[in-house]
Amino acid sequence: MTSDGTPSPAPSSVEHSPSSKHEQVGAWSALWASKHRCDESKPQEAALLHRIVPAQRLDGKACAAEVEAALLQRVKTLTANGTIPHLAVLIVGDDPASHVYVNSKVKMCERLGIRSTHIALPANTSEQTVRQHVAELNQQDDLDGILIQSPLPNHMDEEALTDLILPSKDVDGFHPQNLGRLVQGRRDGLLPCTPSGVMRMLDWAGIDLKGKRAVVLGRSRIVGMPAALRLAARGADATVTVAHSKTEDLPSVCAEADVLVAAVGRAEMVQASWVKPGAIVVDVGINRVDDASRERGWRLAGDVSPEVEHVASWLSPVPGGVGPMTIAMLMENTVRSAESRHVGGTE
Ligand code: NDP
Repeated sequence: MTSDGTPSPAPSSVEHSPSSKHEQVGAWSALWASKHRCDESKPQEAALLHRIVPAQRLDGKACAAEVEAALLQRVKTLTANGTIPHLAVLIVGDDPASHVYVNSKVKMCERLGIRSTHIALPANTSEQTVRQHVAELNQQDDLDGILIQSPLPNHMDEEALTDLILPSKDVDGFHPQNLGRLVQGRRDGLLPCTPSGVMRMLDWAGIDLKGKRAVVLGRSRIVGMPAALRLAARGADATVTVAHSKTEDLPSVCAEADVLVAAVGRAEMVQASWVKPGAIVVDVGINRVDDASRERGWRLAGDVSPEVEHVASWLSPVPGGVGPMTIAMLMENTVRSAESRHVGGTE
């Protein structure tokens, strides 16, 4: 047991022979059952408690490929009607990871036939200069989407700059008007990309959320809170708890979840012992961790321990899960914006 009284995770092993995996799952399940008074004599609960099959993969890459194929057709239709969707991406500073993200967005635009404008400004750019760029982009009639790559240098007020983007061009979905529409349960605004990607991926996997207990770990403006709103919205109909750094006994809160969405930015924090057997786990986290075995000296890790694979029924991988879906949803927002601005909307 850990100091907070929760079951300690079983020791991890690199090779999972069927028997050792079975033992691990058995140990976690027994601890989970004793903690949550699960009745192993009931067939449904027993089945959940003794899972030995690894979780099914919530394959964001495959789902994103389907989204892209559909977008390609929509872009072709727009282009045939004289409108080429156009996205502007503005980045300030030299953060290497941010430049990688921007490049992958620009490349995706190329693949789909979306025009892109890439504005890269040095780290010492004044906030006023960025404001001027946003004002000009707002005025540009052939432009459908504006994205300011996060994070901005410390001397800039990211939220204030987001507020300047025209809501109809706010393809990130972070403008208060778009977030406000989300709170109202309306679907006519531009919705934040990562939560949209999570919802689309769950739908793609045929997962019915109605009546399920969902826990969202993280309450950020861009991921946690909008994800919680999407899960609780009419149509999705999950019952949602939002957990954060002040939540008491996080493992027990997570263990209540039929659906657990982890968006904390803490590498592999969610342990197998925190997860209800059979739960659906979506790992939003993207963390760089040192890894001497890799030539580059690091690897990407999610917020969820790999051991969760042996407890959950579905698990999204990192990389290849929510990441590709986020970019796909950005492209979809850009195409939607182009459709509604130029041909009155096709959805
Ligand atoms: P933020 O740092 O803005 O928010 C993190 C949230 O996690 C906060 O609500 C914070 O709580 C909570 N938190 C932090 N530490 C703990 C802890 N020890 N226990 C409980 N809660 C904790 O991060 P983001 O929401 O922007 O991103 C989260 C993760 O998702 C990151 O790894 C990020 O890289 C990744 N990400 C992935 C994307 C993708 O496309 N896959 C897109 C965007 C983000 P509090 O509010 O109390 O501080």
